[in-house]
Amino acid sequence: MQDTTQTVIARYLTVAGAIVNLTPEPRGIRATCTGCPIPGWLADYDPTLSGTKNTDWATRQAAAWAQRHAETCRAMPADD
Ligand SMILES: [Zn+2]
Repeated sequence: MQDTTQTVIARYLTVAGAIVNLTPEPRGIRATCTGCPIPGWLADYDPTLSGTKNTDWATRQAAAWAQRHAETCRAMPADD
């Protein structure tokens, strides 16, 4: 079972009614779809926040992935 106490910084509603959650990780932002059996996607970023790969970069990457995924994902949350 996924830890539901972690901070969700954004939610995207998919076309099938599932939710893509963006959650901060120690080294990036994870996008997790509640309908898909995949573990989500981590937009890795440099923790020293040097160059262009900072938290904002990682958040933008994860948000773009979540937006694209929400527009095309047809997976529905599995009832338990
Ligand atoms: Zn999905």
